[in-house]
Amino acid sequence: MNTAKNVPELFGSMVFNETVMKERLPKDVYKKLKKTMREGTAIDADVAAVVATAMKDWAVTKGATHYTHWFQPMTGVTAEKHDSFISPTDDGSVMMEFSGKELIKGEPDASSFPSGGLRATFEARGYTAWDPTSYAFVKDGSLYIPTAFCSYTGEILDKKTPLLRSMEAISTQACRVLKLFGKNVRRVSTTVGPEQEYFLIDKKDYAQRKDLIFTGRTLFGAKPPKGQEMEDHYFGSIRPRVAAFMQELDEELWKLGIFAKTKHNEVAPAQHEMAPVFTTTNIATDHNQLTMEVMKRVAQKHGFICLLHEKPFDGVNGSGKHNNWSISTDEGENLLEPGKTPSENAQFLLFLTAVIKAVDEYQDLLRISVASAGNDHRLGANEAPPAIVSMFIGDELQAILDAIESGEDYTDMAKTKMDLGVSVLPDIPKDTTDRNRTSPFAFTGNKFEFRMLGSAINIACPNIMINTAVAEELRLFADELEKADDFHTALVALIKREIKAHKRIIFNGNGYDDAWLAEAEKRGLHNLKSTADALPHYTDEANVELFARHGVYTRVEMESREEALLEEYYKTLHIEALTMSDMVREEILPACVVYQSDLAKTVKNKKEAGVAGGMEADLLGRVSALTEELYNKCRELDAAVAQAPDADAETIAHYYHDTILPAMDAVRAPADQLEMLVGKKYWPFPTYSDILFYV
Ligand code: ADP
Ligand code: MG
Repeated sequence: MNTAKNVPELFGSMVFNETVMKERLPKDVYKKLKKTMREGTAIDADVAAVVATAMKDWAVTKGATHYTHWFQPMTGVTAEKHDSFISPTDDGSVMMEFSGKELIKGEPDASSFPSGGLRATFEARGYTAWDPTSYAFVKDGSLYIPTAFCSYTGEILDKKTPLLRSMEAISTQACRVLKLFGKNVRRVSTTVGPEQEYFLIDKKDYAQRKDLIFTGRTLFGAKPPKGQEMEDHYFGSIRPRVAAFMQELDEELWKLGIFAKTKHNEVAPAQHEMAPVFTTTNIATDHNQLTMEVMKRVAQKHGFICLLHEKPFDGVNGSGKHNNWSISTDEGENLLEPGKTPSENAQFLLFLTAVIKAVDEYQDLLRISVASAGNDHRLGANEAPPAIVSMFIGDELQAILDAIESGEDYTDMAKTKMDLGVSVLPDIPKDTTDRNRTSPFAFTGNKFEFRMLGSAINIACPNIMINTAVAEELRLFADELEKADDFHTALVALIKREIKAHKRIIFNGNGYDDAWLAEAEKRGLHNLKSTADALPHYTDEANVELFARHGVYTRVEMESREEALLEEYYKTLHIEALTMSDMVREEILPACVVYQSDLAKTVKNKKEAGVAGGMEADLLGRVSALTEELYNKCRELDAAVAQAPDADAETIAHYYHDTILPAMDAVRAPADQLEMLVGKKYWPFPTYSDILFYV
């Protein structure tokens, strides 16, 4: 098939989108559905019934026999349970049916999803509710209906519901602010384009490594002779096998209406990236979840395993996800686009100020939103932004903010006089924003790029935090400015005051530099180094108040989320510790024993033959000492795991961070040294060289 020709035809072919709706729904039903999608209003039962039948009929033409309510529980992955359309008829045959009720509401047994103690198993019932703002689609013979997931008592149990609520909150407040600029806007949406990094490795290598299978990352592995130091992989030519994977991935994503746009090799060997064109946050989130799933599935077809873990290999770069974020009106005006007129400039600066203030006041939430056991290996290491949240805005914007703050005229190179809201802001060319790669939260011309996300994360969380925090600042701004006698004077005063109060969050320098750590501490910025340090701040009073005020989370929901996240963290480390110990006892120690025995035989034989030279004896001594050490450290790790406290989630999380992680490092060190000494044919699993440099 000539794919190039067929892309437009392929694109969205498995999606119940605008075109299909127009084609298959009666006009009045289509209009009502659109209204629901646009304004978030409830849908009538009779409309739902018509939509359901049309969806089913269309899905059947795409080969679907089942439908599923697709949701995003707190685990971060998506969940689905499939029911067939089949319904028995009187004459003993079957009909394909799908009712409005089945479309709107589903009842999965919720007892096996984490709820952070929110719901006892005996009251396990939860329900899923159709989210009409994200299109249904057909995949693997099922009609997928994007849904939100709640408990019967109304507490939310998923990541989509709070995301939709946060989008609602920022829309409400942004519309208030826009009204002050004389604009009647009905709805404002946040937009996101997530760049996704991943590793592709050979299935055969994967299958031989318990650590990859159980934990998604290697727990052992000496550095290969060649890593990423030659910088020859980034944007390098793509291996044919990988190119074939990427082509099929694009096609599969296009079918699902996902705007896969850019693909290239990344910094580390065997690492790649895919970036889609941005879209509304809710859809971008659904699409990113789908992208990760499709990546894994397509990889298998090509004999690969796709690793989405943040740090699959020590010593080479890990994988992240860049969350490009902006706010647009329903007419498509990007509110973070510096304008061309004085009034547009003032509006831009107000929204910019809101984001700056939000990031400063809710640093801890942003840090929490990307906290996971996997991401802890990246943040703060010299490859990803530090664990300290700061913002980069570039020299030009910085000069403008400085001028506003000091009340002086802003003079750029061309000596343009700048008086906020009176003269025209100088053009801010997109690329003078310098591509500072070390900043966690960088302004890149008309959007912010939040770069702390781990590759495996569900992007809902960070976006819930950003949306709600910015909504809160816009609320405060609107409250103040609505009361002002003279809007322009009040606006200038407000921006000036807030820039002064929150400029500590702006850092345009090198975030990888140690000097920044000291400077950040002086500025009083949070440095929440690990997930165990960060998560307990989730339920700080200011954060609880924020989410309650905007109707995103209740206190109970936040407490339960904090607990679920802490549990996820220490359970991950627990599994890693057990896997490590298992690999040492079952695989590494036996290999070392055999190698030592062969060496010992040679030593003995040589001595008997009267041959001089003690190289084997020397090697035997070194291997023996390291093997002893490995054995002892492994026993210490086992003991430490056995002594884990039976306490609250926070205490256990700290224990795993403070005690288990160092114990694991102590096991790894002699094992990696042994890998370099023990003969290749003895070593029980593929090494970094084998895995990262496949053909
Ligand atoms: P890079 O950062 O790799 O140089 P770009 O800046 O072109 O690449 O885009 C990165 C990502 O930002 C893409 O996914 C793109 O769709 C997204 N993006 C561009 N504009 C916006 C916007 N207004 N809102 C959200 N995401 C955007
Ligand atoms: Mg980018």
